Amino acid sequence: MNKYAHLHQVLAQRQQQSLYRRARITDGPQQPIMQVNGRPMLAFCSNDYLGLANHPEVIKAFQQAANQYGVGSGAAHLVNGHSRLHQQLEEALAEFTKRERALLFSTGYMANLGLVAALAERPDTIYQDRLNHASLLDAARLSSAKRVRYPHKDTQQLAKRLEAQSTGQKVIVTDGVFSMDGDTAPVKTLASLAKQHEAWLIVDDAHGLGFLGETGAGLLEAEHLAQDDAILMGTLGKALGTAGAFVAASADLIEFLIQTARPYIYTTAQPPAIAAASLASLKLVQTENGRREHLKELIQVFRQGAEQLGLALMPSTTPIQPIIIGENAKTLAMSQQLEQLGILITAIRPPTVPANTARLRITLSAAHSQEQVEFLLAALEQVIQSQTPIP
Ligand SMILES: *Cc1c(COP(=O)(O)O)cnc(C)c1O
Repeated sequence: MNKYAHLHQVLAQRQQQSLYRRARITDGPQQPIMQVNGRPMLAFCSNDYLGLANHPEVIKAFQQAANQYGVGSGAAHLVNGHSRLHQQLEEALAEFTKRERALLFSTGYMANLGLVAALAERPDTIYQDRLNHASLLDAARLSSAKRVRYPHKDTQQLAKRLEAQSTGQKVIVTDGVFSMDGDTAPVKTLASLAKQHEAWLIVDDAHGLGFLGETGAGLLEAEHLAQDDAILMGTLGKALGTAGAFVAASADLIEFLIQTARPYIYTTAQPPAIAAASLASLKLVQTENGRREHLKELIQVFRQGAEQLGLALMPSTTPIQPIIIGENAKTLAMSQQLEQLGILITAIRPPTVPANTARLRITLSAAHSQEQVEFLLAALEQVIQSQTPIP
């Protein structure tokens, strides 16, 4: 087949299955009411859970650091791209998460690739929850280790699989808060299984960091898991409102990653100004508990309202509150109807989620007001009532 004909065939198939994706163009900052494709929209799909992406202190820190350090970091961390700001951020993250050390990565995707592939290679085995984030699944593919998946949160099945294996190291990997479902992993049980089997446990807390736990240090703080119980991977582009990611763990493990994690070694360090912005937002996370409190109230308001509308909610106590629709076409149609009402919620479809579980992934932010959440509920009611038959 002609090489372009092949591309066109794949694209046409995606269209037919309502799986085609396209980016919207935004103007201005990340905030509840955003300019999207030239039009103001009330967005419920951002991961800026605490509303820090556009916070004046964070912007100021970024600007000041850019004046002092310029823009590009110029090189990888192990060459001459590791600025004092990067160092300070790593120290602050280690202190925040109560771990001996933290190591910065340019993105969460890369942190997962680096961490998982460094810890496991043939003849080791990687055990993953079926609903883990794509970057964790890809990380296992990058590694030469054996790959085992277990049903969502099914620790009994995991236990069986751990018992069946004997050669090499074992690495258990889980999302902390599942990114498309909003529920949390049974990390306490996972940690005790890990201990029992001499396995590493990696928790990707991209969506728990900043929100869960007494000081916002995430699911591991909320569940009182210590450094030896679990390796923490956290991202800075979500609740912290900036960009990048880190691994927090024992000094030995971090030293091991510095020497072996290829996505750490072979990439340009993030701009120092981003590290400065992250330092500023980390301070806000730690000092402004009110954001988390307000967000918890909004979650309550949303769940109560959605229940009254008869919507099927997920067992989620986090800002991720998806509504499962099922069919791709129907989910897309509902997302488009909401868009006409001025509300932006993306239709999440396979392969991001399993087949027949397409959903409206609603996310709430501390930057939303209660009135905005009520407006969302009214719009959802209207969309449900006017449900057009599927073409
Ligand atoms: C967003 C996300 C990542 C990737 O983080 P980036 O910094 O956006 O690359 C990794 N894991 C989970 C669970 C995520 O939701």
